[in-house]
Amino acid sequence: MVLDPFTLLVLTSAMAAASALYLAAEWGSVRERSLLLWSAGFAIITVGCVLALLRSRGYVLFGIWLPNGMLIAAHWMFLAGVAEFMRIRLPRSWWLLAVVWLAMLLLPDGPWWSKAMLGVQSLLIAGITLRAGLLLRPHGGALGVGAAQLRFVLLAHGLFYLAKAVSAVALDAFVNLPSFHGTVILISLVEGVMAIMLLAMSMTGTERHRREERIAQLAARDPLTALDNRRALYLRAPQLLEQASPASPGALLLIDIDHFKQVNDLHGHDAGDRLLVMLSDLVRSVLPRGALAARLGGDEFVIMLPSACGTTAQALGQNLREAFAQQARAMFATPEPVSLSIGVAWFDQPGLDLSHWLKQADEALYASKRKGRDRMEMVPFSAAGQPHG
Ligand code: GH3
Ligand code: MG
Repeated sequence: MVLDPFTLLVLTSAMAAASALYLAAEWGSVRERSLLLWSAGFAIITVGCVLALLRSRGYVLFGIWLPNGMLIAAHWMFLAGVAEFMRIRLPRSWWLLAVVWLAMLLLPDGPWWSKAMLGVQSLLIAGITLRAGLLLRPHGGALGVGAAQLRFVLLAHGLFYLAKAVSAVALDAFVNLPSFHGTVILISLVEGVMAIMLLAMSMTGTERHRREERIAQLAARDPLTALDNRRALYLRAPQLLEQASPASPGALLLIDIDHFKQVNDLHGHDAGDRLLVMLSDLVRSVLPRGALAARLGGDEFVIMLPSACGTTAQALGQNLREAFAQQARAMFATPEPVSLSIGVAWFDQPGLDLSHWLKQADEALYASKRKGRDRMEMVPFSAAGQPHG
């Protein structure tokens, strides 16, 4: 098979059509608008390529400006899809590009016309594609794998078109461009086929990765308080447990609301929920960097402090108890005071798992309840590790 422009154009239309269908099918299951815009972009490329193919076989239905204009429109769709994916509104000024293109068509025909067309068209595609690549920037968290790949492909594709625009204008002054004309077209078509394949692959990857991240987040989070749930705590705790040693123990605070049932019984389940949310906000507000917090279930919460001294744990527990009791009193009247009981265990042996330390903290919590609630009891320091402070 010879890689002549005709064969490459057939390949391009087939790949673009397949990509359009592939992304449309993906949209059918996830309903993310970006997928639809990207699919539309590839559909436009397919039609443009078919028109160019017909033209090359003598069926001149439209001027060459139409397939070229369609290529620009397709890249515009890619940009709109990226903006949708990033939840960004594109400024209206981007529509002016269509005006630039239409203005080009009105220019009088002349020997320099096709060169100017090639330059302007390449510049427009480069500008649109580079903008799309630059929009894919991480906000807060890191960019997902799919989005990072899409960014790379868009930037590379945009730079290719920038080089094409420059070559159309500058190179012509130094070398005899027309003699390279066929080669330039071939390189362009090969790049186009590659870009279609890589763009379509990374476009589906962006949405899939985002969906997987969302599912993982949902699976790790307590829906009421948005704190980690028991499952996430068991996944994250080993990292803290392994860092601990008898010389630098960590503290595990097991927290349970006192007389929580009275809030539920007297003020309703929603009131109980609001109290749980209030406690989770307080926990977040006192949580130091590197510490973990989770809702184990019901009215039971856990805080894990890495390398905490006795004073740190004591102060954090006391702040939490005082702030909670004060706010709970202001929110709901109950026969018995609604407060916090806390049990503290010191994890100082790297080999032991979370269940072991939770059991110890639970015994300390039970001691707090037994001794009258609204207090914090600590497991006696083991002979091996004495928390300093
Ligand atoms: P104690 O002082 O001994 O801790 O007793 P308590 O009244 O706080 O009750 P306990 O801790 O034994 O039980 C917790 C209650 O919390 C039982 C359950 O009805 C209620 N509960 C569990 N999950 C939720 C929830 O998501 N929302 C609400 N509103 N209540 C919950
Ligand atoms: Mg309770």
